[in-house]
Amino acid sequence: MEIMLEAQDFIMNTGVEQKIIGHAPRAIYDAVVKKLHMLEDMMSFYREKSETTRLNRQAGKEAVKLSSEMMFVLEQAQTVASLSQNAFHILLAPLVQLWRNAGARNQMPSQDEIHRVLTLCGSDNLVLDKATGTAYLKQEGAMIDLGAIGKGFAADICCDLYKELGASSAFVNLGGNVKTLGTRPDGKPWMVGLQHPDKARGNSYGAILCTDQSVVTSGAYERYQVIDGRKYHHIISGQTGHPSESDLKSVTVIADHSIQADALSTAAFVLGLKKGADLIYNTSCTGAVFFTAANEIYLTKGMKPFFRLAEQVKCYEI
Ligand code: AMP
Ligand code: MG
Repeated sequence: MEIMLEAQDFIMNTGVEQKIIGHAPRAIYDAVVKKLHMLEDMMSFYREKSETTRLNRQAGKEAVKLSSEMMFVLEQAQTVASLSQNAFHILLAPLVQLWRNAGARNQMPSQDEIHRVLTLCGSDNLVLDKATGTAYLKQEGAMIDLGAIGKGFAADICCDLYKELGASSAFVNLGGNVKTLGTRPDGKPWMVGLQHPDKARGNSYGAILCTDQSVVTSGAYERYQVIDGRKYHHIISGQTGHPSESDLKSVTVIADHSIQADALSTAAFVLGLKKGADLIYNTSCTGAVFFTAANEIYLTKGMKPFFRLAEQVKCYEI
């Protein structure tokens, strides 16, 4: 008989919710949790021994040998960086850190500081050599941060494991990166609620039907610092060096691969409604929902069959 295991953990600095249906879901769960810890050890910006830290420490010095998984993540990141004209790119880490520290000190970074740090954030700093399996950061002080793509990669790996280890269906939510294997046990699609940007957690403005796909949201409301009583969210514009002044409150992307949905949702958030929609149409992902600063909801064509609106509010096609 098949049973459903439901679990909540805290891994990769975020809540991880899983539902696994199968004959022996506990063994699958154990394997997935072990793998998630390994991925955290590999990608974390904060772990001394992570591949991210090794690469960042050797910036301007030497190339670093990477695992094939890390190389894959970096390649995918480069692809989305070039598709989004660097609205998304993983070399913004020095700025991400500057704003994080500013929040911790409750002191705005000076414009001089921002300019100085921006010079360390060139998107062309990272050189990948697939033949030797190495990566090199050309400039001393340059750093990578996989905060906008790593959880998506991890969600894909979870689903690979569910499948490989014999789950008949499964659901994982890694801090807003959802991916599902198959349908719910009753044969219906999994439903992923879309958090209303201005309402308390758990209040959704709509939902997405999700079967064998990934649903990822990037939003200004998710994580932010408060400096001098004002909120500064965590998604940075590499053009200004400041938190991105998007005309969006959130973007949700649906795609076969969570790594793609994760990177694209961050990129589309920075680009804003019009350019963000152009980006989505330019890729193989299924579609996107945009929640604008004016509280309007826009759907790309591909999103329409999967989207359910919860409230009696209008939504438009873009
Ligand atoms: P997400 O929640 O997936 O949109 O990713 C946001 C996280 O990615 C932030 O907390 C930073 O660690 C990092 N980040 C911020 N701005 C960018 C950007 N423009 N491109 C790539 N990563 C970013
Ligand atoms: Mg992202």
